[in-house]
Amino acid sequence: MNLNKSIVINWHVTERCNYGCKHCFAKWGKQAEIWNNSADVERIIANISKHFRSQSYSQIRLNIVGGEPIMFPERLWNVVETAYKHNMETSIITNGSHLENIRPFAHLISQVGISVDSLDHQTNLNIGRESEGKTISFEQLHQKIEDIRKVNPDIKIKLNTVVNTFNYNEILVDRFAQLHIDKWKIFRQMPFNGNGGISDYKFYAFIRNNYNEELLQKNVPVHQDPIEALYMTDFVSDEKKDDETSNKQVIFIEDNKAMTESYLMISPDGRFFQNGSKEYSYSRPLTEVSLEEALSDIKFDSTKFEERYEQWSITIAVNEANAFFHVNDDDIGDFDCFCELSDD
Ligand code: SF4
Repeated sequence: MNLNKSIVINWHVTERCNYGCKHCFAKWGKQAEIWNNSADVERIIANISKHFRSQSYSQIRLNIVGGEPIMFPERLWNVVETAYKHNMETSIITNGSHLENIRPFAHLISQVGISVDSLDHQTNLNIGRESEGKTISFEQLHQKIEDIRKVNPDIKIKLNTVVNTFNYNEILVDRFAQLHIDKWKIFRQMPFNGNGGISDYKFYAFIRNNYNEELLQKNVPVHQDPIEALYMTDFVSDEKKDDETSNKQVIFIEDNKAMTESYLMISPDGRFFQNGSKEYSYSRPLTEVSLEEALSDIKFDSTKFEERYEQWSITIAVNEANAFFHVNDDDIGDFDCFCELSDD
């Protein structure tokens, strides 16, 4: 029996968001949000904890997603505290615009995932990652991350990027290397609700231009030129020298296949839902049936869940990108830019 089994449950607590991304799939039709009711929050979290502990999961992480959950800090604080009380880890996915709101309870949070599709103002406007014409600059993002680290120095910082039709030719890895992140997840825009997703060309071009573990491992100071750092073979920042995780994989890539039926997701009204088809399928509400009964209503592929974190699945994605552009083994490692090519 594997005593180190871990599971992540993604609870989309709200649909509301101050941004309007064109690729957003956080759409459930403005259902009632059960995080407004503390008794329901307690019941769902207690059931999750009891069920997965009985299945020998030693690590249970509640990943709180939206919409934009940090727009409602008091309700979010209650969910985080309840999960903490039940000995579960918590993480939050946010667009970063209100990150400062979590400072009072950041000590209870193990990871913050910030969605950053672009560092270019116009590209963010095109994507819809804006509120009243305001987007987040690199400097603001850096400051927000540093401010949270001051409250909780152990907090892990993850960045999420959805490769879409507006950002596929952008190089982000050099600036991300200056943020000293723990993880960077690269997703392919999912076909959903009338949008057709993106072409292989666009997805692979982004991977080819941004898959650079070596640069992320260098932990480049914000004042140093990242590309210069890349060619300084002995460069490792002082902070990183003693860090036993310095060779940990940072980049994770999820193509559409890996994203299907590999997440355990709860909708704002408290039902498991799945993304196996063009529309969501739902379980019965967790406030009305047991967690076991609700789980039996949906498809969840635990093998795919585990594979998402495997090195070989990332290698396959990178090899597919190289094969797509007919890159020879000898060329792999060169940091070529494919931005100039057209999407035929
Ligand atoms: S920030 Fe996230 S939740 Fe908000 S619109 Fe964009 S993708 Fe949707």
